[in-house]
Amino acid sequence: MLIGAHVDSAAPLDEAAARGADAVQFFLADPQGWKAPVPRADAAALAAADTVLYVHAPYVLNVATANNRIRIPSRKLLLAHARAAAAVGAAGLIVHGGHVNRGDDPETGFDNWRKTFAYAADSGGFGLPLLIENTAGGEHACARRLDALKRLWDAVGDHEVGFCLDTCHAHAGGEELLGLADRVRSVTGRIDLVHANNSRDPFDSGRDRHANLADGVIDPALLVAVLRAAGAPAIVETPGGAAGQARDIAYLRDKLGR
Ligand SMILES: [Zn+2]
Repeated sequence: MLIGAHVDSAAPLDEAAARGADAVQFFLADPQGWKAPVPRADAAALAAADTVLYVHAPYVLNVATANNRIRIPSRKLLLAHARAAAAVGAAGLIVHGGHVNRGDDPETGFDNWRKTFAYAADSGGFGLPLLIENTAGGEHACARRLDALKRLWDAVGDHEVGFCLDTCHAHAGGEELLGLADRVRSVTGRIDLVHANNSRDPFDSGRDRHANLADGVIDPALLVAVLRAAGAPAIVETPGGAAGQARDIAYLRDKLGR
């Protein structure tokens, strides 16, 4: 099982080495901004590296919303980030499931996801696997709880689409972690990546604050059980810089016997 961390984007391979990580995830642009990624000078080195790379799309993207002024640029930027992620040899682009606004029909969100995949297909494809991630908050989210995820997969499951399971988001979003990997797979048929994070907040709080693995409100043994059942690469998105994340990676290797 590959175990890695979310790192700063300036020198991802150095960050991997500093943590003893098999894999790293990073952004290709400001996660809170609307800028398209610029080509990286180190693209060839990244693509040739043994370290497995994942790219996370900006948080601001929301391809599900009924708001044109958000949805249309989100769709275009998602494709731009996918192309740029493929150019550095990434194994996948992770994007949050998004949401519709209060008062909007949730079905609109799932249909907008379907249109996003149709748009990408018409434009030559994403160029790498797109992994939709579950989110912690919102009453109108497309991928907070499994009932919504089921409707999302009904809309996009015929396309080449993967799933990224975030353990902090699942807990804070109101999904029990016990048996979660199997319940997710019964909806999506797959788990491509786990974001292995503990949570600072209570179950179903809707809050998204990650904690180090042995340091949050979730029993760490439950996190390990989810990872083992998922059988997918794991990325920690935890605090504490290189030292904190190296401890989390070592913890998982120890508990998983890797
Ligand atoms: Zn995550």
